[in-house]
Amino acid sequence: MSHFPIENFSLSPEDKGRLHALHSHFQREAERHLGFPGNLNYDYKELLDFFSFTINNVGDPFAKEGIYKIHTHTFEQEVISFFAELFHITEPYWGYVTNGGTEGNYHGLYLARQMLPNGVVYYSKSAHYSLPKAARFMNLRFEEVSSEEASGEMDYEALEYALRKHSAPAIILATIGTTMTGAVDSVEHILDVLQKRKISDFYIHSDAALAGMVLPFLHNAPLFDFRLPIDSISVSGHKMIGSPVPCGIVLTKKKYIDWIQSGPEITGSPDFTISGSRNGHTVLFLWYAIKKYGFDGFASMVRHCFRVHTYALHRLREAGVRAWAGEHTTIIMLEKPADHVCRKWQLAVTGGQAHIIVMPNITEEHIDRLVDDLIAS
Ligand SMILES: *Cc1c(COP(=O)(O)O)cnc(C)c1O
Repeated sequence: MSHFPIENFSLSPEDKGRLHALHSHFQREAERHLGFPGNLNYDYKELLDFFSFTINNVGDPFAKEGIYKIHTHTFEQEVISFFAELFHITEPYWGYVTNGGTEGNYHGLYLARQMLPNGVVYYSKSAHYSLPKAARFMNLRFEEVSSEEASGEMDYEALEYALRKHSAPAIILATIGTTMTGAVDSVEHILDVLQKRKISDFYIHSDAALAGMVLPFLHNAPLFDFRLPIDSISVSGHKMIGSPVPCGIVLTKKKYIDWIQSGPEITGSPDFTISGSRNGHTVLFLWYAIKKYGFDGFASMVRHCFRVHTYALHRLREAGVRAWAGEHTTIIMLEKPADHVCRKWQLAVTGGQAHIIVMPNITEEHIDRLVDDLIAS
């Protein structure tokens, strides 16, 4: 007896051609990828052999091993413990590798709702669109708070005003690095406002999709982690770290998971992740990057970005382009270039502005080529 003979089947020459064309297209576009926060500079070839396995991390990575053996739960625990240290959580923690920053935001809101069922969600106008999406999905009441026009940081007076409208627990989503300008909401400021309003029932989730892997490596960066009384953090894995498959992490306090499990609403499920079957390969990517670079490697990766960022600001201004940047971010804002330049360099545009995000794969040469195109147009 033998297995089903998959080797007897193959793609038509036409379909092979299509794959070839797709590959060339990706190669071309990856070289002009200036407007998105994905680090394309990685090398996971040492993990290639793992593509012969269906690695399924179904369930809680910290639970006792079940029947299914092809998983990377132990590696996943190590990934979470790296972030636990990075984000200074000093009590027992819990977390898992998600499909990205969006799932992390969903999980943050899900825990918040279980802890504070009548809570109202507050987030700024510059927050990622996954937040209103998640709040609607979970049927939570929410208030969008305005943000500073120029910087994109939350307007704390507007937060105070919005909090005044409800006598309910507050679920606050702090954006640690907005998608457009990289603005960091001040968790310390948010805590001041909560105290002023005498709100003691609150839950704070830090959405640190990109900046969660930038701020810990800077001096004098604002605090957004467990050194303050926050409750959960999410980060994207395919942004600063880089991964061929989207992924991320979410980190929270273990006592919340324990509390929900034994709480009034017994769900009967020991699995507090959002998906059922979960990607075990992305766990290996993150684990591999963490083991290979370590804290110091990531710190020099971030320094590289800021070096190119400084160079880019200088070259753009020298070329007469109006360009500016906030603090603690490698995002550069510029007046919107001609459409064909935006298309070529994949620059995201809102209003009359576009942005460049300097990631570890971006070099001075990319910047020079962009500036040449800007001058030519
Ligand atoms: C990118 C981003 C997200 C979403 O992360 P994904 O990994 O794309 O799901 C959430 N919040 C912010 C601030 C982001 O920039």
